[in-house]
Amino acid sequence: MAAAVSSRAAGDACAPSPDLVGTLTDSSILKTKVYIGGEFIEAADGSTLEVVNPATGQRIATVPRCGANETRAAIAEAATAFESWGRRPGKERAAILKRWYGEVVSARDDITRLMTLESGKPLAESRSEFDNGVASIEWFAEEATRSCGDVLESPDRHRRFMVLKQPVGVVGAITPWNFPFSMITRKVSPALAAGCTVVLKPSEDTPLTAFALAGLAERAGMPRGVLNILTGDAKAIGEALVKSESVRKIGFTGSTTVGKLLMQGAASTVKRVSLELGGNAPFIVFEDADIEKAARDVVGSSHRNSGQTCICTNRVLVHESIHDAFVEALTKRVAALRLGSGLEAGTTQGPLISAAAVDRVEGKVRDALAKGAVAACGGARPSWEAGSPLAGGYFFEPTVLIGGTVDMRMFHEEVFGPVTPVYKFATDDEAVQLANDTQYGLAAYFYTRDLSRAWQVAERLEYGMVGVNEVAITSEVAPFGGVKQSGLGREQSKYGLAEFQDIKTVCLGIGGGT
Ligand code: ADP
Repeated sequence: MAAAVSSRAAGDACAPSPDLVGTLTDSSILKTKVYIGGEFIEAADGSTLEVVNPATGQRIATVPRCGANETRAAIAEAATAFESWGRRPGKERAAILKRWYGEVVSARDDITRLMTLESGKPLAESRSEFDNGVASIEWFAEEATRSCGDVLESPDRHRRFMVLKQPVGVVGAITPWNFPFSMITRKVSPALAAGCTVVLKPSEDTPLTAFALAGLAERAGMPRGVLNILTGDAKAIGEALVKSESVRKIGFTGSTTVGKLLMQGAASTVKRVSLELGGNAPFIVFEDADIEKAARDVVGSSHRNSGQTCICTNRVLVHESIHDAFVEALTKRVAALRLGSGLEAGTTQGPLISAAAVDRVEGKVRDALAKGAVAACGGARPSWEAGSPLAGGYFFEPTVLIGGTVDMRMFHEEVFGPVTPVYKFATDDEAVQLANDTQYGLAAYFYTRDLSRAWQVAERLEYGMVGVNEVAITSEVAPFGGVKQSGLGREQSKYGLAEFQDIKTVCLGIGGGT
């Protein structure tokens, strides 16, 4: 959570810290004001929020804390812009999106640095997120020119039926801090490609990446009001978005709790919603799996972004016959991970997002240890040398817990931290039953060399995405989303574009007798 709130007279209250400016090649991409109607402005009452580097706990910038009034102004701008943006040919929208893509690609080094500074993730992870995220801008720019409706075979002679795909209208998008770049591009790009306009509220923890995207959109010639970005009081902004008649769709990534609130709110005006919520991903290692590959991929999936992704492996289910060999291979790899500042070469694990996040992870680890789990490595906060700037950061050691049982909180709840709990199973049925024993249904993984088992298990897992001998399951071309309480709708791919389009049936009477 953003560290502090203050209110002062409007003026130049919002600014980056001076040392932050010096670290960028092109400091003009650094924006610390909200972007509404083509202008970077402060909150009307001058309220601000502090943005903190989670590796040190130090402030790196101050940004506006807006509320309902600014949100309504942004919606009005987006509604006006929709009048013309929604009517432009897809090719024109594609041209502007491609120019935006070009501007963003040229700012890769600076944007990834901002991502690491505000989210804590190692630079290599910021670059990987950037490359995945920017691919969405390019791919949806191309899709803007390819969207097409249908002409249907008519059941009679005097009528013809056509299906038009039209933009839903103004979109309210709300994104989290764990992927400060790609969660934005995978919502905004299909929305703009479809002809919608957007009011985006990024996480208050990571607004600088979002504001940089706004500045680059302006440089690319994005017309006024097409993309508006504001930070502030999340509840007030969220309520203004869901209550507005003009906003026709909410696209959200975040917690299941907030997703449910938004869905309830959206009911008052019957808006469409796409929700990408929490996960509790199982990773099943069958007895015929390649143990070294499975151990490597569990680490990649479980400790990516210090365990703070909704598709992170949250429960490793291992066949009892290979349990000990697997745990040995896993523990060796996790113990070799290196905690530190994401800007330092050699760091593989950054901090968690906040002090509260460390408390939550520690609480779940303590609960597991009290219920019989044993830490094969990690299990606590690290200790830093006296005087290290990292002592003020929000770190937890990469951890492997063995002896997991279903009564532990972390079997049912997302850990959202660098912890890999290992559970044993005896049969395929038991593995599938344990894997499905959760309210969530986002991503699941399993490793086997048996083709018949691969197909059967993939069908039986109640998840929106399944990785078979693979954990890198996301791509701009593949639908991303969950079932059960992990959400509704899909992002990325042609299915992601359809989320921003209404289908209209046009029936043409052509006469000509009976
Ligand atoms: P996380 O725990 O991962 O931060 P949240 O669901 O709290 O997940 O946050 C995801 C996004 O939702 C962030 O942009 C946050 O500011 C926003 N958010 C939090 N509470 C609300 C709310 N009541 N209404 C609208 N958005 C909210």
